[in-house]
Amino acid sequence: MSVGKGSKSMPTTVERPKPFLLPQFCKGCGRCIESCAKHCIEPGTEVHPETGLIPVVFDLENCTACGLCMSACPEPYGLAPQPESTFELEDPATLFGPRPIPPEKPETIPDTRVPLGSARPLVVKGTYASAIGALLAGCRHFFGYPITPSTEGAELMAQLLPRLDGAFVQAVSEVATVNMMYGCGGAGLRAMTFTSSPGFSLMLEGISYMVGAEVPGVFVNVMRGGPGLGNIAPEQADIKLACRGLGHGNTHGIVLTPSTPQEMLDLTMLAFDLSFRYRNPVVVLCDGYLGQMTGKVTLPERMVAPGLPDWAVWGDRAHRRNLIVSIQLSEPDLEKHNEYLERKYAEMTANEQRADLFRCDDADVLVVACNTPARMAKGAVETLRGEGIKAGLFRPLTLWPFPVNQIEDLLPGAKRLVVVEASSGGQLEDELRLSLSKAGLAHPPIEHVRHSGGILPQAAEIVERVTASRAMRREKGVPA
Ligand code: SF4
Ligand code: SF4
Repeated sequence: MSVGKGSKSMPTTVERPKPFLLPQFCKGCGRCIESCAKHCIEPGTEVHPETGLIPVVFDLENCTACGLCMSACPEPYGLAPQPESTFELEDPATLFGPRPIPPEKPETIPDTRVPLGSARPLVVKGTYASAIGALLAGCRHFFGYPITPSTEGAELMAQLLPRLDGAFVQAVSEVATVNMMYGCGGAGLRAMTFTSSPGFSLMLEGISYMVGAEVPGVFVNVMRGGPGLGNIAPEQADIKLACRGLGHGNTHGIVLTPSTPQEMLDLTMLAFDLSFRYRNPVVVLCDGYLGQMTGKVTLPERMVAPGLPDWAVWGDRAHRRNLIVSIQLSEPDLEKHNEYLERKYAEMTANEQRADLFRCDDADVLVVACNTPARMAKGAVETLRGEGIKAGLFRPLTLWPFPVNQIEDLLPGAKRLVVVEASSGGQLEDELRLSLSKAGLAHPPIEHVRHSGGILPQAAEIVERVTASRAMRREKGVPA
């Protein structure tokens, strides 16, 4: 088919052949009859003398030369195009007017904050608090695959999202989950999942794609005992995965660490904000105990009514030129992209370090802990203070970026750092040491109290560790 350039008033001449039947090759199967919407073909009535079969009959008065009958005919020579067929087709520009030109750049529709009205505090478990935080942050799309101890969060989303005109999709796997989040986030919509350690491992490839393509999304990882299937008791052994191994390639994402159901709500809301602000996945890292822990949760005064970012692949004319992709086949282009991502990570590092400090002002023993172990550490600090020991709790709320700026101010007065965590290899301690080293900060000796396998450090053993260590240092004549 060839289409010539027609003027506004002149029709365009298109050459498109109508069908031509060679009856000696027609088997009379009728497929062409079914294919013709114009009813140009009917079953024949006369037997062909050469074949003894009954070929179809054509009346091409209404034929539009669509060609469907020729495509439908299984016989190589049954239906052929008529030679030199021509007919006239109106120029679409004449029929519908000139094609509108999309604007150069779609505009961002900003989020709005809507008053929530007064509500009494809730008493809910951590996973529920996180799900409620997601809804208040404007998330209406959940994708996930059930895994203990995170499943209750997904269950609540499954109950609530249909009532809020949202979408809950149980995917066939964690791999499917993360790719659904990629699609949803790429459309500029707020998407989340609840998962636990083995499921989080499976999502990492997709998270890397999201980082590369700058797609937001919130991953709540309710950590359980590992490695492998491990068990369903609480651990913190995915710190390394979230902070240093967020998928292949040059990836980073903000990692938030709540310690209470209230923080599960607050930090999940914050996670959506940060995820869209930086166009990057954000991880809410908690442990199985915190996921199941019930606590009082006060709702915020306002909830978020999400807008639509200008970069969204939204599917309408204004967003037609947007493209979300993580592939960069040219080496210089990929290096430039990585340099751009590095600048973005540096911005996150400069702006998003967060920590909570408890009795740290005059502390000479700084206990460093996050998630549920921070609750035991807080109890230990109170006991130690009761015994006249100046202890304080430094609790990172972001593990990546590690709040090194906040701990820097406390280091001159600290004689010891004690890292309390639920991972066997000292993953929180590694983050602390790496951050101090990168910042070039001198620090006092670092000790630790650790458990793994689902056993959490207890306040009494933290107290014992601090006092025993203090006594030993005194014996050696070292400042305690
Ligand atoms: S070309 Fe299209 S309209 Fe014409 S006979 Fe075949 S199917 Fe019918
Ligand atoms: S599809 Fe081909 S073989 Fe079958 S009836 Fe039509 S023209 Fe004949």
